[in-house]
Amino acid sequence: MSNMTKRIAIHKPDILEVIQQHIELKQNGVRYWGLCLFHSEKTPSMMVDAQKQTFICFGCGAGGDVVTFIQKLHGVDFRGALKLLGISGQPYRPNPELQKQKELIKDYRQRLRAYEDKLCEYLRTGNDCKRLVRTEEDLDAIAPFFHQEAHIEYLLDCLQFGTEEERFEIYMQGGLIE
Ligand SMILES: [Zn+2]
Repeated sequence: MSNMTKRIAIHKPDILEVIQQHIELKQNGVRYWGLCLFHSEKTPSMMVDAQKQTFICFGCGAGGDVVTFIQKLHGVDFRGALKLLGISGQPYRPNPELQKQKELIKDYRQRLRAYEDKLCEYLRTGNDCKRLVRTEEDLDAIAPFFHQEAHIEYLLDCLQFGTEEERFEIYMQGGLIE
């Protein structure tokens, strides 16, 4: 790695402490959720990862590290953010992850939509089969659907009307993350 691309380590303040000065965060495991400051919303879409020291908003796509957060919050450039954070100005490569994060969010939303479609399709098919039940054998064949129907309706309800946090949980539990 050349000197040009080598990332120069600077001591950054804890992202959780900094963001908590501006919004209320609710802990859920290693993640923290709060209302995004960069777009208007009623349910929390902003997630702070204390381990990775990053934040990301699943609503508007804002994301980055603690420096990015301060840059966006105060509308200052990189140096300005370092100053506000009390970090002495050092050459530093701005977060190259931003584009990647945007793509990840796009992917996240697509996967959730695909999952929702799949669940809808399953419900539709199951309901169609229900109407065709004539014999006990038919009933046996459709038994697995009866067992899952309520749960699928619950998942769909969360996906369509739930909070971003609930959607994210389904995303994690649904095996949608490889
Ligand atoms: Zn946002």
